[in-house]
Amino acid sequence: MARFEYPCPDCRTTSSLHKSDCRFDGTDWTTIERAYVNILSTLTDGPLREGRLREAIPVRWDRLHSAALSRLRHDQRIQETESGALELLSPEEFSEQVAVPTHDSLQTIYEHGSVPGCHDHAVFALVAYYEMVGLSWPETRERVTDWLRDSGTWERGGFEEESPEAVVTGKRHVYVRGYGWKQAAEEAANVIKRRR
Ligand SMILES: [Zn+2]
Repeated sequence: MARFEYPCPDCRTTSSLHKSDCRFDGTDWTTIERAYVNILSTLTDGPLREGRLREAIPVRWDRLHSAALSRLRHDQRIQETESGALELLSPEEFSEQVAVPTHDSLQTIYEHGSVPGCHDHAVFALVAYYEMVGLSWPETRERVTDWLRDSGTWERGGFEEESPEAVVTGKRHVYVRGYGWKQAAEEAANVIKRRR
């Protein structure tokens, strides 16, 4: 099955299999990718207000562009400057921006670290989250490994693996399959809150 660099702006698939209610099911992937490229390549030259961006892209702005733009904003690839212009984040800025999760249960895990009894769910949730926001596997592995050490999670013990690296490598399937993080995060966060 072919996989694509940009997610479908509606259902987020990166394969040719859209969700059943997706607005863009049946849309040619080159068309979807072109909409992203139109926006990203135009903003590479510098921030623009949305109205200017709509005029500046090389083709006529359509609903696919609107959907791609809201996806890019939602995924924090593009942010709004203080003057209201849309600004493309550099790969480094983006990586920093998404490194600290802002969702409630993920934040609990990230800040307090995991405790024995919920390590599996906690690591699962963080790996799934970083995959969802678009970090590469090497970036994900590095961030989660650092978190295991920096949050004190590794010191608390309760792992069968010999190193934090091995723990994260053991969750590679979560990254590859693109599982959702919500349920695992909530279960882990509940355990962490009870132990505090
Ligand atoms: Zn779709």
